[in-house]
Amino acid sequence: MTSPDPSTIEAAKARYAAERAKRLRDEGLAQYDTLDEHHLDRDPWADPDFTRDPVVEEVDVVVLGGGWAGMLTGINLSKRGITSFRIVEKAADFGGTWYWNRYPGCMCDVDSTIYLPLLEETGYMPTEKYASAPEIFAYAQLLGRHFGLYDKALFQTEIESLVWDDDAHRWDLTTSRGDRIRTQFFVSAGGLMHKAKLPGIEGIDGFTGKAFHTTRWDYGYTGGSPTEPLDRLADKVVGIIGTGATSVQVVPQLARSAKEVYVFQRTPSAVGVRAQQPIDEAWFRSLPPGWQAERTRNFTEVVTGNQPDRDLVADGWSKALWEDTQREPASEEERARLEAVDFEVMEGFRHRIDELVEDPETAEKLKPWYGKHCKRLCFHDEYLQAFNLPNVHLVDTNGQGVREMTAAGPVVDGVEYPLDLLVFASGFEITTGLVSRLGFDPVGRGGVRLSERWHDGTHSLHGILTADFPDFFVVSFIQAGFGLNFVHFLSVSTAHIAWLIDHCRTEGIASIEATVEAEDEWLNILWAASGPLARYNQSCTPSYGNSEGSRTMLAARSAVFPGSLMDYAAHLEQWRDAGTLEGTRVQRQA
Ligand code: NDP
Repeated sequence: MTSPDPSTIEAAKARYAAERAKRLRDEGLAQYDTLDEHHLDRDPWADPDFTRDPVVEEVDVVVLGGGWAGMLTGINLSKRGITSFRIVEKAADFGGTWYWNRYPGCMCDVDSTIYLPLLEETGYMPTEKYASAPEIFAYAQLLGRHFGLYDKALFQTEIESLVWDDDAHRWDLTTSRGDRIRTQFFVSAGGLMHKAKLPGIEGIDGFTGKAFHTTRWDYGYTGGSPTEPLDRLADKVVGIIGTGATSVQVVPQLARSAKEVYVFQRTPSAVGVRAQQPIDEAWFRSLPPGWQAERTRNFTEVVTGNQPDRDLVADGWSKALWEDTQREPASEEERARLEAVDFEVMEGFRHRIDELVEDPETAEKLKPWYGKHCKRLCFHDEYLQAFNLPNVHLVDTNGQGVREMTAAGPVVDGVEYPLDLLVFASGFEITTGLVSRLGFDPVGRGGVRLSERWHDGTHSLHGILTADFPDFFVVSFIQAGFGLNFVHFLSVSTAHIAWLIDHCRTEGIASIEATVEAEDEWLNILWAASGPLARYNQSCTPSYGNSEGSRTMLAARSAVFPGSLMDYAAHLEQWRDAGTLEGTRVQRQA
């Protein structure tokens, strides 16, 4: 690689700063609304007439959520011989994100052999390098059957209240189905991205066309199914708001089916080569025992810049993220080198657009002007090409986003775009308060509410335990480790929680929680090491990754453990091995 001219890099940095400035909004996270505020939260997949008798029981553990996090918690508990647990899930089946996201084109752009958990135990071979959503959902169901989780599940059920009884050392829980459950341990595994958000656009409720979020796809309107063409859109004008990882997958499908497609863009995604391919059975069957954990760790090492000897997955992610350009450089020379590496990677994404998009003006508007760690990268082989089709139109909002709508459709730069259907590919809440995402407000020791205790954001030890909420465990990136492969993070987090619960039971511990001092210390550890990340982030356009550029305490407390997920996992392992439960307050059984 020949190093780019320093003036070229300076020009790119100036462009990054200008693009960022256009997008900063005082409202930060408050610019978004929830689906239920606009009556768009109905579950399209569930039987609305479902009923069952209320359950009244006492169990050892209640797990909130039946996605990967809840399922892996249940599986890890079972493996430790803890079988008295319930999984309470709002949806009508397991799968979490793969239950809700059934939009056309939906798939996972992380290699299926490391994304689908426990393949060695189930013996399942994914069909393709990047599994489709229907295959992943079916695999979640298979996991549920394989590990006997269906008997534990209460579907189409929402927790309404959770109150700690300090005398009995138990949580009392009620649900939307009239259940009353008493449990010692409670695990909040409600999803990292389970709450969809809508852009707070003026006039949004007055829109008279059809509208839905990508997590609530209405095949009754579009026709087709996740595996069949959208055969009712041939005479329809369709708009889609958002150009993130979801939209990148949806747009080619809409392009194929709809009369006209308008893609409303605020910030372009960086879209690299996906290179889908079938899994070679002979290769898959030849993998030695322990291969999945090894491959999973290797991918995480690669994409966090640890540069191991081998790159086992070797795809677009590993190429783009091989070097961690967010890290603190040791010298001015290294700073210049890291900037050059970052620039070159992003130039690669920009050149790809020039190669694939025929209209130069459209190509220019599709180019991402930010650093490679600023936003989640995307990988797709049909998205950029879709803009060459005569029925696909890019409506670039110059960083402003759609801010106004009439009854007919969005208005951008004074131009109204009348639509039959508007699809919101506008993403999910990630760093908003846990209570609003849970939908109920747990009441801990002494009647303290989680919304009070966490009024300014998360207070935790390891992102998992919190003071005044005994035997209450949270699965979340916030104040924990971040893994590009979410399932790797969830495996680490849920294994730790299962260990904690098992340890409490075998050691006669009635309750465990963080101390306030340990929470403060943990936050200081996160903050002390987050300088380089924060500095890198200063040049990034706003996104969910940086709480939309907010400078609130909520955003500051949404820090994650810096460095590799492997470092976070090692930290937890050392903590467990020390055997002192440092930073916790423990009450032994009488
Ligand atoms: P994102 O949050 O990534 O994208 C939301 C999009 O909506 C952004 O392009 C955002 O623009 C845009 N937007 C928001 N408000 C407006 C507005 N007023 N006008 C115009 N545009 C607006 O959500 P996604 O659902 O795409 O993805 C969320 C996450 O889900 C991904 O980051 C990934 O982690 C996961 N995912 C994973 C997939 C996989 O293959 N593994 C596939 C799909 C999703 P801006 O960028 O300016 O904020």
